[in-house]
Amino acid sequence: MWDDAIMSRKKEFKAGKAFTIGIQELAFMEKHCHDKNLKASTYVNNLIRNEMLAEIKKEAETHGPITYCTACSELREFENIEDRWLCIECHEDKTEVVSYMFK
Ligand SMILES: [Zn+2]
Repeated sequence: MWDDAIMSRKKEFKAGKAFTIGIQELAFMEKHCHDKNLKASTYVNNLIRNEMLAEIKKEAETHGPITYCTACSELREFENIEDRWLCIECHEDKTEVVSYMFK
């Protein structure tokens, strides 16, 4: 049941990492995935993604989104100016990257 990647027809990048899940959580996940016809990897990804989006949203309320600025070679805060996301330091336009973070 764990080897979703092997069963899936589509070739994807794989991250192989062993970790432990509680027995009750595992049972819940197995039932949930079966009921919803979801792969375990999809379910876990969705859980993490939702947490990630919530965090990005929370972060955006206190300051602009933070991502890597290739011009500065540093993590930078980006500010929204006339619907473009610009690096707060060098004003490099990262609208495409920042917009992707909110999808
Ligand atoms: Zn910059």
